[in-house]
Amino acid sequence: MMTLRCSVCDALPGDADALACAACGELLAFALDCAAVDAYVVEGNARLRRASADPRDRSGVWRFRELLPPIAEDAITTLREGDVPLIDGPRGAAHAGVDRLAYLHLGMNPTASFKDAGMTVAISHARERGAQVAVCASTGNTAASMAAYAARAGMTAVAIAPVDGISPAKVAQTLDYGAHVVAVDGDFDDALRVVRALDPATVAVVNSINPYRIEGQKTAAFVLLEQRRWLAPDWVVLPGGNLGNASALGKGFREARSIGLAIRVPRLAVVQASGAAPFAHAWIAGGDVVPVRAQTDASAIRIGAPASWKKARAEVRASGGTVLDVPDDEIAEARAVIGRDGVGCEPASAASLAGLRRLVAAGSVSRDADVVCVLTGHVLKDTAYAERYHASSAPQANAIVRGVDLARYLNALLLTRT
Ligand SMILES: *Cc1c(COP(=O)(O)O)cnc(C)c1O
Ligand SMILES: [Zn+2]
Repeated sequence: MMTLRCSVCDALPGDADALACAACGELLAFALDCAAVDAYVVEGNARLRRASADPRDRSGVWRFRELLPPIAEDAITTLREGDVPLIDGPRGAAHAGVDRLAYLHLGMNPTASFKDAGMTVAISHARERGAQVAVCASTGNTAASMAAYAARAGMTAVAIAPVDGISPAKVAQTLDYGAHVVAVDGDFDDALRVVRALDPATVAVVNSINPYRIEGQKTAAFVLLEQRRWLAPDWVVLPGGNLGNASALGKGFREARSIGLAIRVPRLAVVQASGAAPFAHAWIAGGDVVPVRAQTDASAIRIGAPASWKKARAEVRASGGTVLDVPDDEIAEARAVIGRDGVGCEPASAASLAGLRRLVAAGSVSRDADVVCVLTGHVLKDTAYAERYHASSAPQANAIVRGVDLARYLNALLLTRT
């Protein structure tokens, strides 16, 4: 039901461990035989499994296992990932200028980022084929996710990371799960170059160039649709770094439509930080991605040479969507607004709301559009950033109150409420 092929030239891969096409060097991707899938069975299974006690059934990834590459049950390594909420965001909607908005909060995953939905599949596959060591390049979240799942699977995990430029909370989390954290000079792009040169037959490379990651992450589209009675929104807006997630969500929505789970797909809007926007530039110029040296405080999307840009471009085009970039100060403000909705997220995630605001202002998204912003990581992923923000003079900054008479202070607050 699923075949692994080259995402560009369609060739079948020569050997089972390959991450790139032997013929043309491009990334591999799974093709699902949609005609062989019965939407009623998928939908019915998903509904029944949500009430089951089997850990695979409670996972928002594995309850859609008929749409995933087959993996033996005893190799499946799950932490009940993927089953995340869709939460309405009235303050975010007002900020962006739309009537209504919902957040798909992928930060509500076991290690607090969307990487878990892909990692459970990549590590389960690695375990099934007997891999002993998992390796990734990371700006923090892939490392934390790999470390947790590798720990569960009894594998050794090695994260290659520009540790001084990323959130210390993510590094600490990765160390906690027992991974080896190897610091590199340079940035994420340098780290990924090192990892891509490894032999995938000896170590499991679990970056999003691994097609099993993409299969897991595509289930976020199903989890989103499931909570909307399989009715797609007009737009889904998400941040883009290495562009694996944009590829995955686009694939998930397309498959949901081909199978007959949903009657249409949403338009995808991919948002980059202005200092790390090679995909946005290529989209506007109409050519190929030209790598840049990336700079943004949204460290999860500080990526200058996105590996999955061709897949992502195909998905954005197929959806009738768009790509744009937003400056860091707009990301910071949007992040604070998402916090005021009682939701919160890490900086990179807020590029979605900042991007939506620009799309509405430009007239590309209408005020009455039905929009979902994807939040990719939890607010606690980067508390150093939040502390700096609230100690600044930024518009939404919320400084710590010191040296006041508490009774008076509370009285004044009560007066403002009445
Ligand atoms: C990994 C990550 C991204 C970027 O996702 P890509 O698949 O690399 O485009 C965005 N936000 C957060 C929080 C991430 O961890
Ligand atoms: Zn090829």
